[in-house]
Amino acid sequence: MSVIKDMLEFNKRFVAEKQYEPFVSDKFPDKKIVILTCMDTRLTELLPHALGLKNGDAKIIKNAGAVLSHPFGSGMRSILVALYALGAEEVVVVGHYDCGMAAIEPTVLIEEMNKRGIDSRTLETLKSSGMDLKKWLHGFDSVEENVRHSVHLIEDHPLLPPGTNVHGFLIDPETGRLDPIET
Ligand SMILES: [Zn+2]
Repeated sequence: MSVIKDMLEFNKRFVAEKQYEPFVSDKFPDKKIVILTCMDTRLTELLPHALGLKNGDAKIIKNAGAVLSHPFGSGMRSILVALYALGAEEVVVVGHYDCGMAAIEPTVLIEEMNKRGIDSRTLETLKSSGMDLKKWLHGFDSVEENVRHSVHLIEDHPLLPPGTNVHGFLIDPETGRLDPIET
């Protein structure tokens, strides 16, 4: 809890000293882009810096692996909201090298769930109700393929505004170098 306590104390000072002033913006992305990327901690500040983005420039959607697993899931909905309600005009998918989701072993995760107190019966119940946990927890085998898959899912979406450009990139989580992905 000490991290939370420190955060709360810092936050009081941050607001009281008006340290927020350099970040004031509005909810519309000035550069008219929406980015789907990974929650990797190395990208938190690196990605916006490497792309020359400041607060207010872009809508940034993050999850584990920059994965779009379903055409009508929350990720795709966020992209559509950005395009239809918030002024974004282009979509950029940014995966990265050395992504943890490429190394996720579903069976190891499930073992870990067991160890932390999730009852085997719970897992069995989920299984018998049609929830394929191994499939659900599986990330992807290739970071490049994953970006390509996301780009295609967006491009082929029946609700994507016609004429919307969708781009795919991989970023180096150390240097910030951006490599375009042929889709
Ligand atoms: Zn990642």
